[in-house]
Amino acid sequence: MTQPRSSEPVVVTIDGPAGAGKSTVARRLARALDYRLLDTGAIYRSLAFAAQGAGVSWTDGPKLAAIAAALDIDFRFVGDVNHVILAGTDVSAAIRTPEMSQGASQVSAHPEVRAALLELQRRLGAGGGVVVEGRDTGTVVFPDARAKFFLTASDDERARRRVAELQAAGQDVDLESTLRDIRERDERDASRAIAPMVAADDAVLFDSSQLTLDEVVAELLAAVRRRTTG
Ligand code: C5P
Repeated sequence: MTQPRSSEPVVVTIDGPAGAGKSTVARRLARALDYRLLDTGAIYRSLAFAAQGAGVSWTDGPKLAAIAAALDIDFRFVGDVNHVILAGTDVSAAIRTPEMSQGASQVSAHPEVRAALLELQRRLGAGGGVVVEGRDTGTVVFPDARAKFFLTASDDERARRRVAELQAAGQDVDLESTLRDIRERDERDASRAIAPMVAADDAVLFDSSQLTLDEVVAELLAAVRRRTTG
């Protein structure tokens, strides 16, 4: 008889559009499983930030790819916050502005940028025991992940959540422009030629519009445990 694989550390991916609750759910899931957390969106945001600092346009694929290949990024969990350290500087707040959301969305559409960041993401997730969140983590970055989820919610609900999140961080944003921003990003993320945002064939779909994030976390945790025991 085979032994149950009770505590085998695996890769768990959570993909989906902006504001679906991925970050919160991924953080809580990582904590409950005692896993690391890999926020791939923060990598694209950091690249947009680094490019702006270097005077490189978000439309210049080759130059962006060169910056991406040398990106010095690190993550540090302190309390409940996943700090992003870029070349030794904490950029956690600086990369979470609406401007950097748009920048990340633009830089991430270049195929050469995605190729340059693929190895980095795989290295950061190596060894398993990690919850990875993004747009293509179950389809492209970790196609062999043991548990894959695609989390979404209605446009209105996602915009409301994003406004609450940004306002809690002290930013002055309104619902209308946030909804516009989210739709524009989703459209770009879902329609790009390479690694578009799409649910993996073997991903479990969750619509969090009608569920609290606590309920979503509980469902995902149960699903991961089913896949790692037995
Ligand atoms: O998840 P977050 O909103 O931080 O992602 C910012 C942007 O980075 C997304 O809108 C998307 O364009 C890009 N991204 C991506 N692939 C990922 C994660 C993020 O293209 N795996």
